[in-house]
Amino acid sequence: MPARIQTDPIKVQRILRVIFSQPRPPVARCRLLSSGMGPAHMLKIGEDIVGSKACLGCGSCMDACPLLARDAQRRQRCDARSSMALETLVAEDCDRCGNCALACPQVDPTIKHYLVQTHLAEGMAELLAKASTDEVYALDLLLSMN
Ligand code: SF4
Ligand code: SF4
Repeated sequence: MPARIQTDPIKVQRILRVIFSQPRPPVARCRLLSSGMGPAHMLKIGEDIVGSKACLGCGSCMDACPLLARDAQRRQRCDARSSMALETLVAEDCDRCGNCALACPQVDPTIKHYLVQTHLAEGMAELLAKASTDEVYALDLLLSMN
């Protein structure tokens, strides 16, 4: 759970613009720009992790990634479920949809709102452009037959 006082995206918008303009998974860099773990976290561990921006290894970013959802073989190349695994599996084939950053419990909601307001339409436009691929055409064909 992020800290109560979270990163103000306006203060880091220059770097956020750069992050969201690149075809690379944005989640780890958004996580590091966030406020870190809040004091009311529910993890059952003894150490004080308040302020930690570490990857929890929950795999939510990987589950939310449309590229991995489309390409099961690519997904199976790695058993790990972390931002590092996402970076490795997706690399520069990233669709720039922002889903991974939106799904990550360690990215501040303030940054998620900034992403939705400023970059989601652009990312969705790219996804729609890719929707003209044979793969989606085949899916449409399959649906129209049922
Ligand atoms: S395709 Fe979307 S969810 Fe997958 S790594 Fe890129 S921005 Fe994240
Ligand atoms: S969603 Fe989970 S696995 Fe992905 S970067 Fe965030 S904490 Fe790590």
